[in-house]
Parts: sequence; structure tokens; C-alpha cells
Amino acid sequence: MNRTTGSVALVGAGPGDMELLTLKALRLIQQAEVVVYDRLVGKEILELIPEHAERHDVGKRCGENYLTQEAINALLVQLGKQGKRVVRLKGGDPYVFGRGGEEALCLRQHNIPFSVVPGITAALGCAASCDIPLTHRGVARSVTLITGHLQAGPGKQSLPFMGWSQLLGEGHTLVFYMGLEQAATIRQGLTGHGQLGSVPVALIVAGTTARQRVVTTTLGELERQAERLKGETPVLIMVGEVVRLREQLAQLGQDLLANVA
Ligand code: SAH
Repeated sequence: MNRTTGSVALVGAGPGDMELLTLKALRLIQQAEVVVYDRLVGKEILELIPEHAERHDVGKRCGENYLTQEAINALLVQLGKQGKRVVRLKGGDPYVFGRGGEEALCLRQHNIPFSVVPGITAALGCAASCDIPLTHRGVARSVTLITGHLQAGPGKQSLPFMGWSQLLGEGHTLVFYMGLEQAATIRQGLTGHGQLGSVPVALIVAGTTARQRVVTTTLGELERQAERLKGETPVLIMVGEVVRLREQLAQLGQDLLANVA
């Protein structure tokens, strides 16, 4: 590696549980000279950063950015040009609602070598830790990961989201990221296009971590439950028949225990 230009690794830190880091992520963190990290990266994972490494907290708080994406991009370029071995650590996966694409484009434009290390995205982490398979034979054959920010189309600030009808259909699971404050839009958009209000929904707070909380409800009740969780973060919303499997698994577990007793 040419030490006059450094390198930047865009590294997925997973959904929270430290043990869900990949071996590659762990190695890169341990070898980093600089780590630039987000608010979603857990404390335990931050403790893995070597003491001598420079740290930059570029975490964002709901809505109000501490640092704009442009400023983060500029910081990565600046650090790369200083010849540093930089790890850009992000919650979940860098390329799933992680703005990793924007950082990759910027680094390429400035001719800074970069690599991307995938992380376990929230949908997969929460599915496992909440016993909600995202697909299930005879129940769901497809899954969509979607942002809750659906009021405007990409790059068209004032246009409403037009894709609701594509999100419906039998055997389809929806996973909304950043959806808690958009519960009304999600409920209205889906039911307004024919989805039944009885479809099961799970709201998962801080999935895979010690703080994990799961609320199961129905689409018709989504806003009421979202209101109750106001201020909690991060929250993932799963919509679809697969949510029922959580209760089925729990019930079977209880039956087994009762038989043993
Ligand atoms: N790149 C990340 C997503 C960042 S967007 C990934 O791949 O997971 C931020 C959103 O991710 C949050 O608003 C929330 O919807 C979701 N999220 C991230 N981690 C989560 C967790 N541990 N539990 C629940 N939702 C989570």
C-alpha cells in the first residue's frame, strides 16, 4: 500500500451485538489508525478500537445532523490524503441505508483507495433475535427493505411516494427502516392501497442488544403503538404474516416446557 495515500474501509458493524461483527471488520478495527463512526455503533464495539487510534464521532441525532454527509465525505478524503489507514464504521451494513454509496463515490472521485466490508443489516439481525423469519415456506416468498421516509421520491422533494401498490401482495414481508416517526404515512399508504389492517406488525427497538424490546401489533394499530415508543431508537418495523411465527415459536416452546414439567 502506498503510504502517501491512505485507504478507507467502509465497515459494517452490524446491528449492535458485538459478536455479530465479521472477522474482517474486527481485524480492520484493530489495525485502524483512524476510526470515523456513527451513533448506531455500540459502545462495546467502540471499545475494540486501539487506544492510539484517532477517533471521530460523526453520529447523527434524529433529524438534526451533527455533521452533514458532505462534511463526513470531506473528512474521509482529508484523512485518506494524510496517508492514514481509516475505518469508517457504520451500524448494520454500509450499503443498506448507510450512505456508503455516497462515501464510495466521493472517495473514488478523489482517487482514495477504499474497500467495503458488509455487516449484518438490522433486518437480518432483528429477524434472528426476534424469531421472525423474513421468508417462510407457504407464508412469505419475498421481502423488501424500505425506508420509512416515503413522503418524497428520491431527489424530488415534493412528490409523494407512488410505489405503495408494489409493496402489497400476498406472501410479501416489508421491513421499514427509520419508520417510527412515519407510522401514519406507512399505515395510510398500505391500507389506502388495499392492505388489511389486520396484518401483523412487529416494532423492534434496539434489536440484538441487551435493550431489545419487541412490540407485536397489527397494521391498523401501528400509529398507536408507534406513539407509545416515541423517542426510542433505533426502531425497525416489520409488516407481514411472518410476524405470527414469533408467537407460534413461543407457544411451542411453552408447550414443550409444560410437557417436561
Ligand atoms: N445501515 C444500517 C441502517 C441505518 S438506517 C443497517 O444496515 O442496519 C437507521 C435505521 O436502521 C434505524 O432507524 C432503524 O430503523 C434501523 N436499525 C438499525 N439498527 C437497529 C437495531 N439494532 N434495532 C432496530 N432497528 C435498527
